[in-house]
Amino acid sequence: MTKQFKICVLEGDGIGPEIMAEGIKVLQAVGAKHGAEFSFEKALIGGCAIDAAGDPLPAQTLDIARASDAVLLAAVGGPKWDTTDSTKPRPEQGLLRIRKELGLYTNLRPVQIFSALAGASTLRPEVIEGVDIAIVRELTGGLYFGERHRYYDEPGAGTGGAPGQRAVDTLEYREYEVERIARQAFEAARTRRSRVHSVDKANVLDTSRMWREVVHRVHDEDYADVELIDMLVDNTAMQLVNDPRQFDVVVTENMFGDILSDEAAQITGSLGMLASASMGDGVSLFEPSHGSAPDIAGRGIANPLAQILSCGMMLQYALGMPQAAADITRAITEVLDEGWRTGDIKDASTPADKIVGTAAMGDLVVGHL
Ligand code: NAD
Repeated sequence: MTKQFKICVLEGDGIGPEIMAEGIKVLQAVGAKHGAEFSFEKALIGGCAIDAAGDPLPAQTLDIARASDAVLLAAVGGPKWDTTDSTKPRPEQGLLRIRKELGLYTNLRPVQIFSALAGASTLRPEVIEGVDIAIVRELTGGLYFGERHRYYDEPGAGTGGAPGQRAVDTLEYREYEVERIARQAFEAARTRRSRVHSVDKANVLDTSRMWREVVHRVHDEDYADVELIDMLVDNTAMQLVNDPRQFDVVVTENMFGDILSDEAAQITGSLGMLASASMGDGVSLFEPSHGSAPDIAGRGIANPLAQILSCGMMLQYALGMPQAAADITRAITEVLDEGWRTGDIKDASTPADKIVGTAAMGDLVVGHL
């Protein structure tokens, strides 16, 4: 019997609509092969939602997302909406709010090397060969969700006599937030190579010291079979480029995870190749790790593979179709092995007639399904 799924589609801004079209194309093809039909309902988020509704996350978008089996997002943002005026709505607020509203406290970013692209990394092939990291980032707490304020200090007490602006962001974590993300990391490790690096800044921050205590308690109580290693965030930033193969699962708080996952993405050679899943206790959201790439938007040259891999993660983690997900990865591997490249993953040895645009790359993946 054909399975029916309702997917909320959030194209967002920049290259969003271009890469989403390829994701949908691939889902339709893989669905036809694996006995699933998808109905896609589009909704607004980010800059396009600010333009249409004055709000980066209109209520209607949330309603559609909540009534879906999964949410597929491309990317939001662009120079049109960039402002330092904190009273103006920003596209990224739509992202932060949808994560919070859907309770998506876990962000899972796999960092894998497609061997055909090993030469695209800025690191030597022998350093990155075989890298396979799962970054588990806490997504709804920490600095990005703490209270923030701007003040104007008048000259006088406490200002060192210097008037001027003061800005405050608050980094706050509660024990249950650390505990549930630690469990996600240990569970993921058990399906992989059974090693977790817990990344913090416990030599400076109290939130990190609590993070470390809670991660160890959860480990000792329920996951003693998994190897647990504490690592400071600054050392992790170095180790990721020094010896990335030492990592299996990396679990960390929101801002550290944001930065480290982009660094880890870069060692693969292209941000355009990495997908992510944001999960909680209800509907999950799947998106590429990259942004809206306004510098290449509208030119039909964006790499759609991270978006297509996000569709694969959706099939695996939200829709119970791991075979279909594996089929997508196989098709992409074959396309790359044949030498096809988008502009961002080409190198000096790529022949001009093997460089394709967004739609052609989507068609090639469909062809291999
Ligand atoms: P970006 O990821 O959009 O782009 C960084 C570089 O990578 C650019 O040179 C871009 O052309 C390239 N790139 C990214 N995705 C690509 C793809 N699929 N194919 C080919 N090249 C690709 O990051 P940025 O330039 O820092 O940010 C641009 C906008 O995106 C900003 O408004 C930012 O706030 C937003 N952003 C959104 C998200 C999101 O929606 N999750 C994430 C990061 C940044």
